[in-house]
Amino acid sequence: MLIVMKFGGTSVGSADRIAQAAQLAVDTAAAGHQVVVVTSAMSKVTDALIAAARQASTGDWDPTLREELFNRHKAVADALVGGDAARHAAVVDALGQRLERFEKLCFGLSMVRELTPRLLDAISGTGEMLAAPLIAAAIAARGTPSSAVDATGLIVTTDQFGGAEPLMDDTRARTRARLQPAVSRGEIPVVTGFIGATADGVMTTLGRGGSDYSASIVGAALDADEVWIWTDVDGVMTANPAEVPEARTLPDVSYSEASELAYYGAKVLHYKTILPAFRQRIPVRILNSFNPAHPGTRVTVEGHPSARGVKAVTSIRGVILVAISGTGMQGIPGIVAKTFDVVAAQQANVLMISQASSENNICFVLSAAEAPRVVAALRSALEFELMRGHIDEITAEQQVAIVAAVGDRMRGTPGIAATVFGALGTAGINVIAISQGSSERNISLVVTDRDAAGAVRAIHRAFQLDKG
Ligand code: ADP
Ligand code: ASP
Ligand code: MG
Repeated sequence: MLIVMKFGGTSVGSADRIAQAAQLAVDTAAAGHQVVVVTSAMSKVTDALIAAARQASTGDWDPTLREELFNRHKAVADALVGGDAARHAAVVDALGQRLERFEKLCFGLSMVRELTPRLLDAISGTGEMLAAPLIAAAIAARGTPSSAVDATGLIVTTDQFGGAEPLMDDTRARTRARLQPAVSRGEIPVVTGFIGATADGVMTTLGRGGSDYSASIVGAALDADEVWIWTDVDGVMTANPAEVPEARTLPDVSYSEASELAYYGAKVLHYKTILPAFRQRIPVRILNSFNPAHPGTRVTVEGHPSARGVKAVTSIRGVILVAISGTGMQGIPGIVAKTFDVVAAQQANVLMISQASSENNICFVLSAAEAPRVVAALRSALEFELMRGHIDEITAEQQVAIVAAVGDRMRGTPGIAATVFGALGTAGINVIAISQGSSERNISLVVTDRDAAGAVRAIHRAFQLDKG
């Protein structure tokens, strides 16, 4: 089998973790498989790079940041390949070159003082470029030839900096040309997750948490047999285990359940990960690099329908509820259309929509980053309706969360909504807005951010998701 395996930040967060990741790749190859590794940056590095860029854009560049990053990565090289002078020198040289580029970008930024999305991508993608040579060296030190490959030469993307989309035909051609010969020679290429480049070679990123997406893109480009996502929990669980201690691993989920869960906040998978794999029906596994004997979760077409219908509960915190209301909205056509035209023109992503049946209120949820500009654009586009009194107000409520109950078999199962709302009622949690997708694969609701964890736990308990 050809397996594309991705390691997340905590799975490559230290010398020990990288040694373990390298061993997992080598063991899989030794079991007779062809392996391509996709890596994230070491944990916290992307955050540090973004913070550095923001600081540099104030005109204040602190060169010790480069040193700190160098020291952290070099310590790994010392620990893992310190005994092999040639290999160690090559890795340290790669780290130096990549950090030199990072420093030049930050220095330039501190002069210009304008942090564009394009520049932020060029800087924030450095973490993966530092991690890949370390992992390749650790694999090679175990006797399997390996080299780091920058995904800027593989994944061709649009120029939507900060959330670029792959152009699959070009990506497929480049990825195959670059990786197939190495893989057929028995090598394990280590590809940088998270980043890509436009057709003109300008570096882009696929969005925070995007290394999962990279793995699925590379898997699809290579017609891989499976994509494995190594993370720090035992697979996709019935809820975030950090929030619900009794959450349980789901052995099987369908592509649609996995993408719905990821979309509604299950950070264990980047929400776009599923699509490239699904198009080619490539099974995806989510595995725990801290507990590799655990079978984890398998994502396939059928999943494993649960009799109870709801399989998992998720939440997205810190989102904004925008509400457009007014008794004069009734029967006035076009306000909804105009509203969503504005949202689309702002290229904002609507996480949830709900309209009261009385037609005098529509509300929708946006990320905190996108809400301010969308609300400003709405106020100006709907100025006439506001003036005429068709709309009373456009409000943006902070500090809310979306909580979603997800499962393929919710469809056609009566009583699910009653159980959800009964559980919230008993817990004394006020529901601000409700929406059920027409796919009937989820019920999502808005509560205050303060109530989110309680709501997730109450729903988890009501459907007894802790019991298999
Ligand atoms: P990685 O660095 O491996 O990409 P992430 O931190 O992005 O890992 O994702 C793994 C984390 O996702 C887990 O540690 C867990 O806290 C969180 N998580 C949220 N919802 C779920 C869920 N339903 N199942 C499993 N993990 C979840
Ligand atoms: N390193 C990137 C991030 O922290 C991508 C990833 O880890 O998936 O967002
Ligand atoms: Mg992740």
